[in-house]
Amino acid sequence: NADTAMYQAKEKGRNNFQFFKPEMNVRAVERQVIEANLRLAMIRNEFSLHYQPKINLKSGAITGAEALLRWSHPQWGMVPPIRFIGIAEDCGVIIPLGRWVLREACIQTKKWQDAGLKISEIAVNISAVEFRRQDFVETVRAILQETGLSPRCLQLEITESVLMRDAENSIAILQQLKDMGIQLAVDDFGTGYSSLSYLNQFPIDVLKIDQSFVNEIGASKTDGDGIIVSAVIAMGNSLKQKVIAEGIEKQGQLSFLKAQHCEEGQGYIFSRPLAADQFAKMLRLGVTAHAPIPVLMPN
Ligand code: C2E
Ligand code: MG
Ligand code: MG
Ligand code: MG
Repeated sequence: NADTAMYQAKEKGRNNFQFFKPEMNVRAVERQVIEANLRLAMIRNEFSLHYQPKINLKSGAITGAEALLRWSHPQWGMVPPIRFIGIAEDCGVIIPLGRWVLREACIQTKKWQDAGLKISEIAVNISAVEFRRQDFVETVRAILQETGLSPRCLQLEITESVLMRDAENSIAILQQLKDMGIQLAVDDFGTGYSSLSYLNQFPIDVLKIDQSFVNEIGASKTDGDGIIVSAVIAMGNSLKQKVIAEGIEKQGQLSFLKAQHCEEGQGYIFSRPLAADQFAKMLRLGVTAHAPIPVLMPN
């Protein structure tokens, strides 16, 4: 069957395609093509970062941004991260690439701050492969030192499933980052089957509610609607962790999150991820298009 064929092919190494079914062959070749192009992309400077504003839901103010990797290939155009992050992890390119992302995000944020723009935090996604490397903590320390960004302005996003895979080891790494003053966020929270007793032992500052839960708000007419979101917000608030809702698209979702005292939010309702110069324009304005209309006082 397919599993056995895949297993045998893996055992025999990369050059043995005879056990692949035709469609597997296509996928394997596609992976190799993407892998080769990823290596080229590093040299040809095809990567960039886009920045999605993070909004304080009470005030409507921009508190920071999440840096999101973009790959613009000369022939293929924009390649979405889900198409290449996994491959970059498998072939190791994620190490220089992740380092580039972190460095670029820190340089850009420091530049904005030096220019007088108000941005108090930049969030950077960290892959499982980066997080588990022996030199990860030192790499982060060196980049902060080199770029001059305050550790308090850096927020590292690590997915719940990565943290849970080897919880004891994760806690040790997180604690070293925490000791440097860096903020730590659990990304895609709710999708990784956390043990709640463990969660409490993690030195975590931020819970990012996965967008799949935010999507459910207002999607059905049942009483259970939004119940997971409410529970996560209540838990985060009592554990003194900041809760950020991802993927807010609709006014109804936003109203619900505000009513539940969710502190921050991100989503298309405020802004899509923006190129650096576009984001800077938004920062200069200080608000997104969705900010509440100011009340005009009669004089
Ligand atoms: P993530 O960290 O959970 O990022 C959130 C994703 O949701 C982003 O997709 C963002 O563009 C998208 N998004 C934001 N607001 C909305 C909304 O209102 N509706 C919908 N439908 N989507 C929204 P993107 O940029 O395609 O990134 C996908 C994933 O790729 C990220 O999920 C993250 O896991 C990974 N990724 C992106 N950049 C990096 C990076 O620099 N390093 C690593 N290791 N992973 C990255
Ligand atoms: Mg993220
Ligand atoms: Mg997420
Ligand atoms: Mg995600």
